[in-house]
Amino acid sequence: RDIYCFCTANTIEEPSTPPIQVEHTQLLINGQFVDAASGRTFPTLDPSKEEVIAHVSEGDAEDINRAVSAARKAFDEGPWPRMTAYERAKIMYRFADLLEKYNDEIAALESLDSGKPYEQAAKVEIPTVTRLFRYYAGWADKIHGLTVPADGPHHVQTLHEPIGVAGQIIPWNFPLLMYAWKVGPALACGNAVVLKTAEQTPLSALYASKLFHEAGLPPGVLNVVSGFGPTAGAALASHMDVDKLAFTGSTGTGKVVLELASKSNLKKVTLELGGKSPFIVCEDADIDSAVELAHFALFFNQGQCCCAGSRTFVHERIYDEFVEKAKARALRRVVGDPFEKGVEQGPQIDADQFVKILNYIRSGTENGATLETGGERLGSKGYFIRPTVFSNVEDNMLIATDEIFGPVQSILKFKDINEVIRRSNKSRFGLAAGVFTNNLETANTLMRALRVGTVWINCFDVFDAAIPFGGYKMSGNGREKGIYSLDNYLQVKAVVSPLKNAAWL
Ligand code: NAD
Repeated sequence: RDIYCFCTANTIEEPSTPPIQVEHTQLLINGQFVDAASGRTFPTLDPSKEEVIAHVSEGDAEDINRAVSAARKAFDEGPWPRMTAYERAKIMYRFADLLEKYNDEIAALESLDSGKPYEQAAKVEIPTVTRLFRYYAGWADKIHGLTVPADGPHHVQTLHEPIGVAGQIIPWNFPLLMYAWKVGPALACGNAVVLKTAEQTPLSALYASKLFHEAGLPPGVLNVVSGFGPTAGAALASHMDVDKLAFTGSTGTGKVVLELASKSNLKKVTLELGGKSPFIVCEDADIDSAVELAHFALFFNQGQCCCAGSRTFVHERIYDEFVEKAKARALRRVVGDPFEKGVEQGPQIDADQFVKILNYIRSGTENGATLETGGERLGSKGYFIRPTVFSNVEDNMLIATDEIFGPVQSILKFKDINEVIRRSNKSRFGLAAGVFTNNLETANTLMRALRVGTVWINCFDVFDAAIPFGGYKMSGNGREKGIYSLDNYLQVKAVVSPLKNAAWL
């Protein structure tokens, strides 16, 4: 095979030159690219080389004020919420066509900025973004209220109206996908948006938003502010003129933004937070298939998935064989330059995450788990970590309780279904779960008993635009994607008028 495999080669070659020029580094406010009010910039890095890609305008509270004013004006006075829903849909469809046209350029930018394999971005993620905008364009002209049969002589109807200005804060693990989950439904419902990207990955949202304006989006409807959490993010969360806040990120930051929102104007808040998802392999499972799916469930996107199957529960009868095969699969994992064909795993996003993951690995060893493979840095440049597998993991070890957000698989042993349900649910998180079984009764029992927002049965990470996603417990509130996300961006007005001489009353 023509592949570049760090795991077997044990060396890191010089990554290839990415096929893209960075065009947009300023803030996008009121349809214009502008410098930050302070004039400051910050570097965004290529995590596979630890080198600066570009210096990006650093938005802070003053820029958030400018962006919110532009969004407020676009919502209160501009054409976006006033045009027909079909006109809005057409602009969104045109945007989706442009996303498709520039798919490879956007994928390259995404890969360069985040370190994810280019093939993953180009073949899966950016097409999923495009699909999502088409999906929500399709909803735009199907949103409507009801006629309500109230007691008494009154005509009652409901209007489903946009909320107003939506503030949106997104993380770095799927930069443009998170943008799509938030911007798509918000704009389909007629809102205006101020989006703050993650400081690690500001580039793709700027590029895509330029295309949105080329597709006919009026100025001020979508504003993108690059910058840091405690400055730009906090200013957005606490802004008095923001009507709704949608946040995706860690549970700790989720608590902070919820407090900022409640201390300011009680804006409506939805939160998509962290997870520690169980992946349950039952005794009837075909072991080879289970190993492959459990591997994908954990290692996809360098292990940097909120819903990663990061507690691999395996039935005791097949445990030893599963561990051997999981180790062998991790050793075969192709780690390297995100732009090389066939690479499955790139670097972690930055030095902070890299150090955090290595510390978790150290804690796993110190707490008595068995390190089957990996556990260390790969190469000397770039934030590469060897695919790591721990066996003999106990429920109370940090590697089984905390979100590691890295390529570290923890394999736990269980005896029976009731036990694995109890242990799976014994987590502060409740985002997702995987179940691998051929037994319908077992699948039915588990899908109902697991306290999580998504159960994937004999599959994992299926992210169709129509499937709702969100968390139980400390994994968040609200649902994104699908029809459910429209509720996040609509409010209901009841309109009541007297019925006089009504024939039917
Ligand atoms: P993070 O919480 O550090 O940052 C997320 C965003 O919040 C960034 O844009 C950041 O700048 C901003 N932020 C940080 N401090 C802030 C503050 N004080 N006020 C306002 N904004 C602030 O998370 P991260 O490390 O970027 O992302 C990883 C986390 O995101 C993981 O926990 C992961 O599980 C979670 N995540 C969840 C989902 C989901 O759908 N549930 C999806 C992707 C990622």
